Amino acid sequence: MSIVLASFEGVECVSSFQEIDTHVFILNSIRKSCSCPSCGHLSSRIHSRYIRVVQDLSIQQMSIHLQLQVKKFFCDSPTCSTRIFTERFAWLQSYQRKTNRLQNLLQQIVLSANCVTASKVTELLRFHTSHDTLLRLLFKMELPTPQNLIRIGIDDFAFKKRNRYGTLIVDQDTRRPITILESREKEPVAEWLKQHPSIQMVSRDGSISYASAISEALPHAQQVADRWHILKGLFDALKESVNQHIPANWKKTEYVQPNEPIPVVRKTDSLRESHEKQVWERSQKVQEFVRQGRKIAWIARQMKLSRGTVYKDLQRKQKPDFRRNSILDSFFFCHSALEHRRKNCR
Ligand SMILES: [Zn+2]
Repeated sequence: MSIVLASFEGVECVSSFQEIDTHVFILNSIRKSCSCPSCGHLSSRIHSRYIRVVQDLSIQQMSIHLQLQVKKFFCDSPTCSTRIFTERFAWLQSYQRKTNRLQNLLQQIVLSANCVTASKVTELLRFHTSHDTLLRLLFKMELPTPQNLIRIGIDDFAFKKRNRYGTLIVDQDTRRPITILESREKEPVAEWLKQHPSIQMVSRDGSISYASAISEALPHAQQVADRWHILKGLFDALKESVNQHIPANWKKTEYVQPNEPIPVVRKTDSLRESHEKQVWERSQKVQEFVRQGRKIAWIARQMKLSRGTVYKDLQRKQKPDFRRNSILDSFFFCHSALEHRRKNCR
């Protein structure tokens, strides 16, 4: 136990006793004087004493409680507004009922699980901490302050839809959230941005309040639309464009698949058909030469073709079809079907 108590600077253990599952240490402050937390004046004039009950890390399945007698001192500095103050300890924060090391451990537990689960774990570890207390400890944790931010993303989110909205700010380089602001109004956003003058680029939605907050706080920063809003804008424009092409008096009728296939006309079709005709005429000529008893080498030389082409022409029994399937064919069909419907369903 002396190892445990060695961590508590400024106190001495007077006695200890054991309850069912708790070990209680009675500790007294041994300081003769203490510095005023407001002005730093060293005071040795004691005002009174009182008892603080503090919880510490458990040992061997036993809860550890400290009954700590602390002193209150007068501050005799004439310029200080504090008249009476309580002595401070490095291992225990003011107004806390848990030692710093226990608080740190609880914060690590609650970070790795939700509060209810963490509360059950602390029960097993004999810390007996409610999930509300764990939640308070979590909120007390100081977040790391981001340094040298270059690119950030900013967007709003709903605490409660149509009621209360906040602002989420994300570091675009690390892809991690930096902070949450409790409002999406211009002032708090601008105030936060002013504290980070290193920001060069802000990705945002179409919100006017964000735009003016960025312009006011970071006039040098480039404002860009985020990817989601670009895609949404494009999709809305596409819908608008399609809607403009649909006639207002369009009557809804059942679409009947025509018996004959809907002709698909492309600009390249005439070129292809001309090429197919040339190849078919050449093939017929090659086959005629063969029937006349000419050799392949002679035909190739005469017609300025490769022997491979001559062989291919010999194999050809009908007019070739050089149409190639394209991934766009289904869309051509859709387009043709839409045209057909526009013409016939008004
Ligand atoms: Zn003072």
